[in-house]
Amino acid sequence: MTDSTKTLCPYCGVGCGLEVSPPAQPGKPVNRDSQGYPTWKVQGDRAHPSSQGMVCVKGATIAESLNKDRLLYPMMRESLDRPFQRVTWEEALNAIVNRIQTVRFTQGPEAICMYGSGQFQTEDYYIAQKLLKGCLGTNNFDANSRLCMSSAVAGYIQSFGADGPPCCYDDLDLTDCAFLIGTNTAECHPIIFNRLRKHHKKNNGKVKMIVVDPRRTTTAEAADLHLAIQPGTDIDLLNGIAHLLLRWGYINSEFIDECTSGFPAYADVIRQYPPELVARKCGIKVDELEMAARYWGESKRVLSMWSMGVNQSSEGTAKVRTIINLHLMTGQIGNPGAGPFSLTGQPNAMGGREAGGLAHLLPGYRVVKNAVHRAEIEQFWGLPAGRISAAPGLSVWEMITGLEAGQVGFLWVAATNPAVSMPDLERTKKALWRSPFTVYQDAYYPTETANYAHVLLPAAQWSEKTGVMTNSERRITLCSAFREAPGEARADWEIFAEVGRRLGFTEQFKFANSAEVYAEFVQLTRKRPCDMTGVSHERLATEGPQQWPCPDRSSSAESQSQRLYTDFRFHTPDGRARFGAYHSRGLAEPPDPDYPFVLTIGRLYGHWHTQTRTGRIEKIRQMHPNPFIEIHPRDAGKLGIQEDTWVEVRSRRGMARFPAKVTEAIAPGTVFVPMHWGALWAENAEANALTHPEACPDSLEPELKACAVKLVPITAD
Ligand code: SF4
Repeated sequence: MTDSTKTLCPYCGVGCGLEVSPPAQPGKPVNRDSQGYPTWKVQGDRAHPSSQGMVCVKGATIAESLNKDRLLYPMMRESLDRPFQRVTWEEALNAIVNRIQTVRFTQGPEAICMYGSGQFQTEDYYIAQKLLKGCLGTNNFDANSRLCMSSAVAGYIQSFGADGPPCCYDDLDLTDCAFLIGTNTAECHPIIFNRLRKHHKKNNGKVKMIVVDPRRTTTAEAADLHLAIQPGTDIDLLNGIAHLLLRWGYINSEFIDECTSGFPAYADVIRQYPPELVARKCGIKVDELEMAARYWGESKRVLSMWSMGVNQSSEGTAKVRTIINLHLMTGQIGNPGAGPFSLTGQPNAMGGREAGGLAHLLPGYRVVKNAVHRAEIEQFWGLPAGRISAAPGLSVWEMITGLEAGQVGFLWVAATNPAVSMPDLERTKKALWRSPFTVYQDAYYPTETANYAHVLLPAAQWSEKTGVMTNSERRITLCSAFREAPGEARADWEIFAEVGRRLGFTEQFKFANSAEVYAEFVQLTRKRPCDMTGVSHERLATEGPQQWPCPDRSSSAESQSQRLYTDFRFHTPDGRARFGAYHSRGLAEPPDPDYPFVLTIGRLYGHWHTQTRTGRIEKIRQMHPNPFIEIHPRDAGKLGIQEDTWVEVRSRRGMARFPAKVTEAIAPGTVFVPMHWGALWAENAEANALTHPEACPDSLEPELKACAVKLVPITAD
């Protein structure tokens, strides 16, 4: 390959287009990485509508991770205390198939689990669903999206009758008021933030930006109004804003009457949130609350954005619905520049939602509990009626407790690193250690999770396989391979399909390439809310990225698909969006005299999740060399902690140690730790050693964002 190739950045849900050229170009010096090795040249794709040529430091430096520490061959070992031995694919696949068959017929299909990833392309997701939920008859497929945006999924479904962010990135240029809650967009979705920031600056004073976050993040620094609420008081704040909108007459009665249901019950709840009470609960001033409500009420177009600060909560779905309520009461949806807009974390978390890649979903926005949906999928896949179980599968935390209880006989983990990213890590690791048989499929080795595997399978990654990803604005991009996979690595979907064929499902896995897989998948979206039957690899290659819904070839992003609900009809049986009325239950583990601080965890600009890639990129390692703990000067003073004092942080579950960063950016009583460091990169610096698994009952997303801790300064002696 000598020409440049168009693809997508494999990090975050912004989904920036990339253009990649080989190291050597005629007449030009060979492109080299920071260590002097020849490497592919990566730049932003100016023609990609989502990013218009922009990339952040992660996208710009991604080429350096292509060759480092790649897992090249299948490896196996009999037990976790033995070293891995290189094996052939034949040996590895035989071992996997034999184990699946044994578990299937001794413990039943419900003892088989797969934990996948938003790093999958849609084809990988789809084939995994067909193998697990269809052929094997277990819904035990969950993805790391469970830890990231499953509360947004549940909130959209409960409010609108279907999942899917209703907005698009053009709304960033059109809004009068951006309301960012629980999202450090400047660091975690930088290209989106740059666009919003430009619009905000250009319309100085006219366009407002409100940021709700217990930390004064880079995002909060740019805001007109920063509401530094106490962790866990989001619903109080949102109900307080709604109270004032109602009191001041800023509601859209016509929209409420004609397009929604449930407003009277909601109004009864928000009347119980007068400003004084809300300000006291949230730890802000009444003036600040009133200013937020005034910005909302006086703006014609309000765009709300959120990510894990909202979703990773034991009341995540209620928080999402409470944000949506504000849009419903003011009619701020379906119009340019307005609407509730969840920002996805992983590059293809959206594709996972489309393909049914969570334990309660089936492809095409179907759900396992719905008998009609199950029958449609069984028939389409050529499987006997009743093959798909009516019971939702295990969420990833339920897989961990299933391992503890000896109920899981086969665990397949792919493209994710649960030995760093799961809550209550000590318990997670003990459960993984107990697994009778774990297959770990990844592009990199070593990783923390590889320590818990019996079989390692080398996976081709974004650079070496062609497939499709959907970003936060529902835009579908073809990611084209631009180099050969190293060693014996194979695409995830090819591995799943090969196992399926060896299990006897030859008809179900007759695919020559990923274009055929995608062509089959889109048929299952026909007449569904995410209809993308007008999309194919060939169309994406020739016409560029498309947004769904895209039901036929003539569908154009500009005319039909930019925004959802432009006709103000929703996917509920009566076509009305539903208000959800909630009182806050607060944090699942509030601080107390034994554990007096709230720990919140988050991300840094340069790093991506558990550093599987970014830890291998020199520039990013220099940018963020070490983990740390942020602590307010008042708390630091009381505990005798100074800048760079090492602090032992203890929760009821575990311990970690960090040097202190004493800063007023964090509120008194709260401390912050970045979540990127696992055992591979630093000793005793795992943020998730401290967190707990208490989850939202609707979305099953754990409350990774907050737990109670105590701090003990470590003295030199
Ligand atoms: Fe990649 Fe996200 Fe950065 Fe865009 S914003 S270059 S998708 S990491």
